[in-house]
Amino acid sequence: MIKKVTPRIEIDLAKLEHNAKRLKHFFENKGINITAVVKGVCSNIEISKRLVQCGINSLADTKITNLKKLKEANIHATLILLRTPSMSEISDTIQFADISVNTELEVVRALSKEATNQNKVHSIIVMVEMGDLREGILAKDVSSFIKEVLTFPNIRIVGIGTNFACFGGVIPTEEKMKEFSSIVERLENELSLKFQYVSGGNSANYLWATQVNNVGRINHLRLGESILLGKDTIEGLPIPGLYQNAFKFVAEVIESKWKPSVPFGKTAKNAFGETVTFQNRGIIQRAIVGVGRQDILVSGLTPLIPVEILGSSSDHIILDSKHVRLKPGDEVPFSVDYGALISAMTSPYVHKIFIDSNPSIHKDSYHNKTIA
Ligand SMILES: *Cc1c(COP(=O)(O)O)cnc(C)c1O
Repeated sequence: MIKKVTPRIEIDLAKLEHNAKRLKHFFENKGINITAVVKGVCSNIEISKRLVQCGINSLADTKITNLKKLKEANIHATLILLRTPSMSEISDTIQFADISVNTELEVVRALSKEATNQNKVHSIIVMVEMGDLREGILAKDVSSFIKEVLTFPNIRIVGIGTNFACFGGVIPTEEKMKEFSSIVERLENELSLKFQYVSGGNSANYLWATQVNNVGRINHLRLGESILLGKDTIEGLPIPGLYQNAFKFVAEVIESKWKPSVPFGKTAKNAFGETVTFQNRGIIQRAIVGVGRQDILVSGLTPLIPVEILGSSSDHIILDSKHVRLKPGDEVPFSVDYGALISAMTSPYVHKIFIDSNPSIHKDSYHNKTIA
């Protein structure tokens, strides 16, 4: 049984394993190797171990402190730093990341110097800007960037990558992906080299992969949300055959009373500087759960019982409990979106509880089924 501590996030390792295996198998059939992006779970060690047990051989995070945690836990996987290293974190990057993504010559120069000092060879993936306008070198500048980096000691260029749907919302369409493949081919021909990783994107590339027969030069993707929450991030729809409920957030009722639905007295802004309006529903049963905005991204929670979130403050979420009779000590379960998941996993106030809902599910014959 689950120990009754609240607030807690229940993590179903068997469901995560199932999702990871299915995605790995699906992409493998297309010639694409996947890296599990564990930043959404703060590089949690139990989860990371389980993913590696599924045969995933590389893990990625945007924070070097999380890679350090994975390295120190002796997890046998290639560790990838997914955000270009800060100048202030060069030494840790060489120490704890096997590969980092890069876009700035100055940074790679510093990595080269530090790698030489530490007597190591550091691998990098060069990120190309394909229109989403977050990280990346413009296509026209990549060749000269690589030529320069090839002169740096103790740096090995192992790959080329791009990212979609994170800042500008640009979709990895068939056309975009073909364009990226042709950039890769042009570079390989011009520079007479072969990229080990041609990293075409993230979970947003799932739909593209289902729609095309030919994935071009892409042989690698970095998947976070699709493994963790079983969703395609372009349309936000469940990926068939995957679990969307590997995580469940549980909070506890601390007050439950019949009260008016509209505040009484002279009103001003609330504790967060917001002016809030209220719908008059008459006298309703209001339940408070003992968790709030300093614990979790409340807007990313959806109650799994028929109650409604009316609002929240730092340490309280106020519910209209409708027809559900709640009393102090009762638990209210919620599903989480990616934002709520990240906040729960990084919060020291939220207990992380592991379960293995149905150990038989990973024995089911995923090889016999297609994912989509
Ligand atoms: C977060 C991140 C990913 C993973 O994205 P998902 O949508 O969770 O699959 C991949 N690549 C980079 C560079 C990222 O920052």
